[in-house]
Amino acid sequence: MVEFQAGQRIALWGGGEALVGKLLGRGGQGAVYEVTVDGKPCALKWYTCHLQDKAAFKENLRQNIEDPGRSLAPDDKFLWPRFLTEDLGAGKTESFGYVMALRPPEFTDFPAILNGKDGKGGKVAFASTEVMILAALNLVNAFRSLHRKGLSYQDLNDGNFFINTETGDVLICDNDNVTPDGKVNSGGVGGKPGYMAPEIVRGDAHPSERTDCHSLAVVLFKLFFRHSPLQGAAYEKLPCMTEKREMELFGTNPVFVYDPDDESNRPVNGVHNNVIKLWPLFPQFFRDAFILSFAKGMKDPQVRMTDNAWQKLLVRLRDEWYVGCPSCGKAMFLGDNDAAADLQCSGCSASFSYPRRLGLKQGSVLYNIPLFPGKKLYACHIVKDSDDYRTVSGEVVMNKNNPSLWGIKNLSPETWRIKPPGGEVKEIAPGGAVPIGPGLTINFAAASGNISE
Ligand SMILES: [Zn+2]
Repeated sequence: MVEFQAGQRIALWGGGEALVGKLLGRGGQGAVYEVTVDGKPCALKWYTCHLQDKAAFKENLRQNIEDPGRSLAPDDKFLWPRFLTEDLGAGKTESFGYVMALRPPEFTDFPAILNGKDGKGGKVAFASTEVMILAALNLVNAFRSLHRKGLSYQDLNDGNFFINTETGDVLICDNDNVTPDGKVNSGGVGGKPGYMAPEIVRGDAHPSERTDCHSLAVVLFKLFFRHSPLQGAAYEKLPCMTEKREMELFGTNPVFVYDPDDESNRPVNGVHNNVIKLWPLFPQFFRDAFILSFAKGMKDPQVRMTDNAWQKLLVRLRDEWYVGCPSCGKAMFLGDNDAAADLQCSGCSASFSYPRRLGLKQGSVLYNIPLFPGKKLYACHIVKDSDDYRTVSGEVVMNKNNPSLWGIKNLSPETWRIKPPGGEVKEIAPGGAVPIGPGLTINFAAASGNISE
């Protein structure tokens, strides 16, 4: 095995060199070092494992770096390969690596997020639920960009992406198995147990865009429910996992823990407390997406939620988040609650009226946005055909002199038109604010909204 020392120089394929710094970590496939290329800090992944077809693997990596159409990362969320190295060593130890951007320290690995601890005694938690949803949106959007380039990732698991828990930004590494969809990666990688689609576990299919979507659903389930979708009573029955049992649970007879038609693998009280507590807190439309992906989608890859469908659903989930109990401030999803009835706080049991909200329609898409200070409208809500879930177009603000008066500040470049019931049409220019009042109509350029009574 080739080991590098700090200060060593490694020749890059096609010219140039990488100056080795400290060892950052070791994984199943190889080691990652901090390196400097052209004076810039980067990361070097050096393969120490056996690659099924090394020449083809290297060629695919070279194409990801150099070929037009593949050479640019699908978007800035990918730590895309930048340079290949020359081979080093001889015989069995002969190997190579590639250089990518260095992960900034503010990005945390997914296992630390799931454990709530960083391994150095520090706590890891999202700044807010909205930030957690934004992280999910960014992750889903990154894979959508990748898939839209005709590529598939092929090995999505908890080890290959990082999240900034303050901002929701994500970074995806390990882009060395990324291959044109329909083509098998030459590293011989099928995926990680627990994240692999059942058809791969059974040996019936190779990794693809469809199996990526299964892995993506597993990651989302873990992010929101802090549990694995297939670990329930059936999984707990056997104290040790044999190959035959693993094949049954993850390949030939996988049963989602909340499969509505099969209760055999329900979460176990006292063992799977996270998922038992969290599952009912999310709206039914969100839970239905996992039921579709893991109940029907387990058997039929074509019905699985796509990255695009997840993106739309997560926008809706974020919309329905309401920070609202007037007694204790606890937040909740409006989701399944009846707008005509009072809400009851799951924290302090206080009951309070359903919040005033903006019903928004763009084409055939409906949004239901509770209005409270800090709530944001995004470009995807009001700009025609926009799927931009990051650009803020409006925000609910409090009147400085009278905090009981709320308005929606126009942060978009467009003028909005409003009409109070029985009143005159008025224009709200960028920077102005719409006074929130019952029955008010707002016409955005490509959408129209109505504030509830
Ligand atoms: Zn409360």
